[in-house]
Amino acid sequence: MTQTRLITITALFFTLFDNYAFFNTVLKVYPFGGINTLYLLSLSILLFTFIIFLFSLLSSKYTTKPILIIMLIISSFTSYFMNCYHVIIDSNMIRNIVQTDMAESLDLINIKLITYLLVLGIIPSYFIYKIEINYGSFKVELFKKIKSILLTLLIILITLLSFSKFYTSFFREHKPLRYYTNPTYWIYSIGDYIAKTLKSGKLIVQPIGLDAKVENIKEQPKLVIMVVGEAVRADHLSLNNYSRETNPLLKKEHIINLQHLSSCGTSTAHSVPCMFSIYNRDDYSYKKGISTENVLDVLHHTNAINILWRDNNSNSKGVALRVPYEDYKTSKTNTICDDECRDEGMLVGLDDYIEKEKDRDTLIVLHQIGNHGPAYNKRYTKKFEKFTPVCQTNQLEECSQESINNTYDNALLYTDYFLSEVIKLLKKYDSSHKISMIYMSDHGESLGEHGLYLHGLPYFMAPDAQTHVGAFVWFGEKNQKNINPNKEYSHDNLFHTLLGLFDVKTEVYKREMDMFR
Ligand SMILES: [Zn+2]
Repeated sequence: MTQTRLITITALFFTLFDNYAFFNTVLKVYPFGGINTLYLLSLSILLFTFIIFLFSLLSSKYTTKPILIIMLIISSFTSYFMNCYHVIIDSNMIRNIVQTDMAESLDLINIKLITYLLVLGIIPSYFIYKIEINYGSFKVELFKKIKSILLTLLIILITLLSFSKFYTSFFREHKPLRYYTNPTYWIYSIGDYIAKTLKSGKLIVQPIGLDAKVENIKEQPKLVIMVVGEAVRADHLSLNNYSRETNPLLKKEHIINLQHLSSCGTSTAHSVPCMFSIYNRDDYSYKKGISTENVLDVLHHTNAINILWRDNNSNSKGVALRVPYEDYKTSKTNTICDDECRDEGMLVGLDDYIEKEKDRDTLIVLHQIGNHGPAYNKRYTKKFEKFTPVCQTNQLEECSQESINNTYDNALLYTDYFLSEVIKLLKKYDSSHKISMIYMSDHGESLGEHGLYLHGLPYFMAPDAQTHVGAFVWFGEKNQKNINPNKEYSHDNLFHTLLGLFDVKTEVYKREMDMFR
């Protein structure tokens, strides 16, 4: 077989079998029939020729086969997640994938994923591996390559021009449609991710708030526990009038519920560094976040506050790089582990930590595994399985909407218990400290509405379920604060609120952003 033919066949395979999500989404905007049929046909030709063009650019005697195989294998994974969970593989998603650890990846593996890998990845790759390609001399191959590049460019041009009006609206008004193309969009996203993330030379972290000082130092010491939640959408909390009781323990406490709080992003890797950063959602980028100190650093500059980050999620996403950090995902540190280590384990030994320097202000950040999907059934112990039947698989689309909700809500019951334990721990210090707890989830979660699952959609496309997050505060008897629970807040407020809670005076503090002032 010639190289050109192999590339053409592979491109046809991609167009037909790896772009189900793309055509499915396009059909919603341009349903079959009339002129749309012509549009769809021309769109298929455009995608097909563009893939040939792309592969031809990268082709050579030594690269063609490995590149086609890598594309097939990766696209079999992206096809699975795009078809089943309706996710989009953009640069933020690439960041999530890069930062995902082994346990999280294992959570995703199931028979259906393996079938995708086999049928769309390994089997066609095997044929490509076995096929013998008749290569001509360097000159002949170069000539052929130029020929197919020019020919595909010509076809692309003719297709675009013959339906120019359609393509103008397709690219301008329906921008998200192309996010579903395979392999083109994930290739673009990797490039985008690299451009946004990697920088030549050493990363220099810009210090901020070096002038930070604690005022009112003669008061009682402050003890604040900040809980970073995972994938908790606001509308599934009974604190927010959800029809089911998902906060049976917290409702007994004097909780100030922040019912309108929006997240900075739709994924852990974006939201967690953003919520601790000085940048607002509109200004935040990964690069800016990682190269500027965050609110923990500013608190640290006061030299008056003990800071500890305990993590039962993947990690602090770069937030706790310069403050004490403890990994609680392992049974070496976490004493409450069964199938997996529980959030509750992060509370063990905190009394000793607090007692050790009880005259100083203390901030403890607890990063939960919370409602991390898709295996919600692993996030709680049997005791919390109150809503049944539950979804026992990580293939969410196989489960009924009801069982997905049940499983997700059971995991919420565990978080309700965990947070009530945090409050119980804090109450012990009510006479010696000014105590408070802040809880904020990093992002929400889609549970099958409109075929959407999990999270991570680009913010402008994301439903409320992914951006309106669970959040509330709790204060000790002697430490009550004024706060308007009906006001619209966002992750942007956290930076200034934490500084305000510790009475930190610094040029980077903005009083109007502090939720408690
Ligand atoms: Zn998350």
